[in-house]
Amino acid sequence: MRLADKTAIITGAGSGIGNATTRKFLEEGANVFATDIDETALVELAREFPSLEILPGDVSLMEEVEEIVTAATKRWGQLDILVNSAGITARNVDENASLEERWDKVMAVNVKGSMLMAQAAVGAMRMSGGGAIINLSSVMGVVGYPTALAFSDGFNPYPGSKGAVAQMTRDMGVRFAAEGIRVNAVAPGFVHTSLTANVTQNPEILSALNKLHPAGRMGTAEEIANVIAFLASDEASFVNGAVWMVDGGYSAQ
Ligand code: NAP
Repeated sequence: MRLADKTAIITGAGSGIGNATTRKFLEEGANVFATDIDETALVELAREFPSLEILPGDVSLMEEVEEIVTAATKRWGQLDILVNSAGITARNVDENASLEERWDKVMAVNVKGSMLMAQAAVGAMRMSGGGAIINLSSVMGVVGYPTALAFSDGFNPYPGSKGAVAQMTRDMGVRFAAEGIRVNAVAPGFVHTSLTANVTQNPEILSALNKLHPAGRMGTAEEIANVIAFLASDEASFVNGAVWMVDGGYSAQ
């Protein structure tokens, strides 16, 4: 029960890493406010966990972000943790969209969305006397990506968006340290979730992705959630402005 008496907002809670993190946080005793653009997924999760508070919303829209943070803070009178797990790849954008449109959409959700959520959360955390923010970067924000697996003709907005999240994490970690707010990121390798399902259903691509990781396999959402829970807990009190690779050794090669 490392997160007992803590209150947390988790974005992207309807699926994948956000979903596994929600389950882990509940297991560790946290009060969880789950949000996602996918309302159906949130309702299903709340049916399974009646103590869960939910509110659908789009993290790239300032008004919706403010509604989410205000509602969570009102519910428990404090905010201790934010996990920014909502994210998309260029493949999530309308298939007829231009590269420019995909670029803007991926940046709006992954980069601006994480910033807007952090901005609103920091305001609430200041009133709670501190807090912890965990962002989702990626191994693709740290090392280059084999062209054969890249989107389109090699241009892919996703790596740049995740590199930006890593650097935003360092900057925010330094900026808010004096106020007792720690900001860290996890940078997962490839993980089995709906984000990767469209490529991993191809056995050849799955095999290539497995081989990219010295562990010989992709990761699970639970393996990422375990590290997020640690970073959110007081056990990580001296970890700040860090980007933790959780990638089975991918980036160490
Ligand atoms: P996922 O299974 O697709 O879950 C992401 C969730 O975020 C989905 O429920 C998605 O809803 C939601 N979402 C999308 N746009 C949103 C918005 N504008 N506002 C609020 N919610 C929104 O993906 P995941 O694999 O768990 O990824 C979670 C995070 O980890 C992402 O930031 C991702 O970039 C990062 N990551 C993933 C991997 C991986 O291999 N899976 C590796 C490294 C980093 P919809 O399904 O309706 O779009």
